[in-house]
Amino acid sequence: MLKKILLSFMLLSVFILCGCEKQEEQTDKLAEIKARGHLIVGVKYDTKPFGFVDGDNVLKGYDVDLARALAGKIFGNEKKVVFKQVYPHNRISKLNSGEVDLLIATMTITPQREEVVRFSKPYYTVGQAIMVPKGSPIETIANLNGKRTIVVLGTTGEKNLRRFAPEARVLGYKTYEQAFQALRDKRAMAFTSDDTILSGFAQDYPEFVILPQRYTKEGYAIAMQKGESTDSLAADIDNILDEMTRDGTLVYLKHKWVPSDSDKEILSKRIKRQIK
Ligand code: GLU
Repeated sequence: MLKKILLSFMLLSVFILCGCEKQEEQTDKLAEIKARGHLIVGVKYDTKPFGFVDGDNVLKGYDVDLARALAGKIFGNEKKVVFKQVYPHNRISKLNSGEVDLLIATMTITPQREEVVRFSKPYYTVGQAIMVPKGSPIETIANLNGKRTIVVLGTTGEKNLRRFAPEARVLGYKTYEQAFQALRDKRAMAFTSDDTILSGFAQDYPEFVILPQRYTKEGYAIAMQKGESTDSLAADIDNILDEMTRDGTLVYLKHKWVPSDSDKEILSKRIKRQIK
């Protein structure tokens, strides 16, 4: 009899413990964020114009503004966001360890990444490009076969280069700063990455040019942890992105951070008019 009571007690304890654990596993991320009162977002600090630190030590860029706009929609206050620096090689581990709630970090949706994170809908489209010094003999990605070429480790740029120019001699760096510095130091013939990111460097260093061809079409998306805990967060974020498409926020951010030549023309005409 005593044995039976003991056994039932043990079974009951196991049942209660498992139940609690299960409840903990299923914590709703959106509820957790709301209870905390702010978002924790992983962004880049070296990827102009998406996430970068300017000369006055201020963090800014498209992804930074998008995170603020998101906080504005969730909390009614754009300041309710804490930023943490991430790099392509460590962003997924920072997300999956819970250090950040979201990654808004020039991150392309890929099937391999979809195995380990959950993506929102895309908010921006880019293409793989090549940057070379002005006057370089390199004209296409195929010309990079047998040549030293710079990539940032863990990026789609690295993967695409290995696919489109399998004989290229790949020089990998952990940060965009190091990668661009290597190009300036003439350690390679070219640097390949997203056109948007390379444009950020080409704007500041006109001795480099971006070749006209694009080799991929990639969508940037917001990444969150996979699983049921982010079901409501993911649905909310997709709704907010739809709203941002409708109310013009995404177009505004594009014009602000990645102005096309026609935007620049309109801007300069406006400035000239103002000066007159
Ligand atoms: N968008 C590319 C990627 O997700 C390159 C930029 C980056 O890694 O941040 O790999």
